[in-house]
Amino acid sequence: MVDLKQNVQYVKSVGPTKASLLNNLNIYTLNDLLTYFPREYEDRSKTKNIADVIDGEEVTIQARVISEVNITRIRKNMVIIKTVIEDDTGRCTVTWFNQTYIKQRIKRGEMYRFFGKITREVNHLEMRNPVFDEAGKEKNTGKIMPIYPSTYKLSQTAIRQAVENALLMVKGEDIETLPEYILKNYNLEDLQKSLQEIHFPSNIENRLSARKRLVFEELLVMQLALLELKGKTEDYEGIKFSKDVKMSDVMNSLPFKLTKAQLKVLEEIDNDMESNKPMNRLLQGDVGSGKTVVSIISAYKAVKSGFQVAIMAPTAILATQHFEEFKKILEPFNIKCELILGATKPKQKLEITEKLANGEIDVLIGTHSLLTENVVFKNLGLVVTDEQHRFGVRQRETITNKGNHPDVLVMTATPIPRTLALILYGDLDISIIDELPPNRKKIETYAVTKRMEERVNNFIRKNIEEGRQVYVVCPLVEDKEDDDESLKEEKINERVGLKSIEQKENTERINQLEIEEMKIEAFKQKADLKAVKEWTEIYQKQIFPDLRVACVYGKMKPKEKEEVMEKFKNGEIDILISTTVIEVGVNVPNASVMVVENADRFGLAQLHQLRGRVGRGEYQSYCILKYSSQASQVAKERMKIMQETNDGFVIAEKDLELRGTGEFFGTKQHGLPEFKIANLFVDMPMLKSVQSVALKIESEDRGLKQEKNQKLRKLVDEKLKQSISL
Ligand code: ADP
Ligand code: MG
Repeated sequence: MVDLKQNVQYVKSVGPTKASLLNNLNIYTLNDLLTYFPREYEDRSKTKNIADVIDGEEVTIQARVISEVNITRIRKNMVIIKTVIEDDTGRCTVTWFNQTYIKQRIKRGEMYRFFGKITREVNHLEMRNPVFDEAGKEKNTGKIMPIYPSTYKLSQTAIRQAVENALLMVKGEDIETLPEYILKNYNLEDLQKSLQEIHFPSNIENRLSARKRLVFEELLVMQLALLELKGKTEDYEGIKFSKDVKMSDVMNSLPFKLTKAQLKVLEEIDNDMESNKPMNRLLQGDVGSGKTVVSIISAYKAVKSGFQVAIMAPTAILATQHFEEFKKILEPFNIKCELILGATKPKQKLEITEKLANGEIDVLIGTHSLLTENVVFKNLGLVVTDEQHRFGVRQRETITNKGNHPDVLVMTATPIPRTLALILYGDLDISIIDELPPNRKKIETYAVTKRMEERVNNFIRKNIEEGRQVYVVCPLVEDKEDDDESLKEEKINERVGLKSIEQKENTERINQLEIEEMKIEAFKQKADLKAVKEWTEIYQKQIFPDLRVACVYGKMKPKEKEEVMEKFKNGEIDILISTTVIEVGVNVPNASVMVVENADRFGLAQLHQLRGRVGRGEYQSYCILKYSSQASQVAKERMKIMQETNDGFVIAEKDLELRGTGEFFGTKQHGLPEFKIANLFVDMPMLKSVQSVALKIESEDRGLKQEKNQKLRKLVDEKLKQSISL
């Protein structure tokens, strides 16, 4: 029986060196290699007549070599190998550079199959650097070849060979992962054949049925895992919050009327809170739709029923802002709110944790620091996480474990089409705020190229003269070399930072994933610093020397960060420069212009989030997307969509559509789960049918205990172990 978990280095042709390169692609085991699926294919199976080839196309030609192979030295390090081939319809010159061994491989008078790119020269056709086989052999030609995603220093050939050997290792072995009855009922190909055909398709139909099976499995396992998560919380007895505590008491104290959508959502939450089933609800709403106030009202209900509340935000700025809003609304009701951040002084932390433990604090707001062991609640009843797609299931679990099955409200500003949300967040009930507070003006959006630079700058100035403020967001700069002195210092700091993170690993047993995340964060902060410095220089020194320009960046001391934000809020800064490291959600109603530099490098979801920072007050607001005229077609399409609509849900649909065409912005940024093979846009119909399959299985065999479902049980266990970091 072959061990699928064995180290990939033992696959023939791999070895330790290639294995470490494969590791960079997250391929560690034989199974990882087998499930490293091609990104696309190159069809080298059909041959074309020489007379029919087109300039620039990549084709397979079957032809006879009709001249001696000729080697010419044209420069010191450059040798050209040349010959002529002919079929019934014409002739073609074939050339290679520096591959002198080819002279031994090719004989005049013999037939070969060549695959390469055609160039039409003035008086002849030429194929350069083709791969070839003796007629009848199929090593490099004659078949559909897989192209693997980013191979990172490994050639396509090396990966192909490794995969081919991996397939040989499992040949004839029973590696099937799905139960027999599932394969039969849903007409799916077996795994053995599917793996073979997905990597080396014998024809297109076979590849499609292989793909169908693999996508089916991937989606089914996700669905079953989600159902299981959901089922687990349902089994517990939750908290019944008091029916006598009326949410309307806070509602009436607000300076505005809640929207219908907010009221509907609050009713759903109220019902959940009063029932004895633990609430597990996702609150979706566009930026600015008013989610925070919903969480404040829910917190009121919890506190007045005698429980404590935890609010977890992804960044210190956001946590601080929430803290202020909570205080403003809840303190008049005698509810004690407190803030805890990574940067909170140990002495103060100690004080807070003590008060928390004896119940003197009602609502604790914070970042990741809420997760640490010494944060102990007396009586935690409600957990609110503001996710901006940063927390996973695991963090949610850590915080809920600080209470006795508290209610959970997950807020996210990532608009996902409802159909998709229902499926992807299968473990949560869903509430949607699909309406913005009244009197919000549409944010005018303009996508501009370099040519418009001056007009944009004039426009910025005009708005500032009218008393408004401006955000400028720039993308991270990946730094090539650390020639910059200050960056060296950063680097040292970073190392020290990482070391302390690693020490933490031992003492607090933070899991591997979190450490990875922190490392990525550290890297990002460095790139962030550089970008912000460069742009601040440009804006302050070159464009607006007379205006008040300031910047915020991730590595800034929290106190300094707060100071800058505070100044911006108070109107003491005209232009605030940052990258996206300073996250969305900041609320400065007087800011009316959002300028995004290199907007073509951002995904749609992110652009929409950024735009949401303006248009929060009474002023007409603008979003200016600067993009390069050389941006890709898809990037230009994104600019167009941003100009056409302000509706986050429409943008989400479009986003998926664009991804469906092969564009990939990194799902992390978007908050969607990552798949090995499924594509949420293309596979939507499949996703729907798989969901009903999962529901059927679950209703017949909850917990997957039956003999026939043991294979599924195993798949789901593995999936849950990886944690579905939605
Ligand atoms: P979100 O978190 O969904 O992005 P916020 O909760 O930050 O949005 O709300 C954005 C702004 O709108 C805040 O200043 C908030 O006070 C205000 N707001 C919320 N609900 C309403 C409402 N119904 N009417 C008017 N203003 C509202
Ligand atoms: Mg918010």
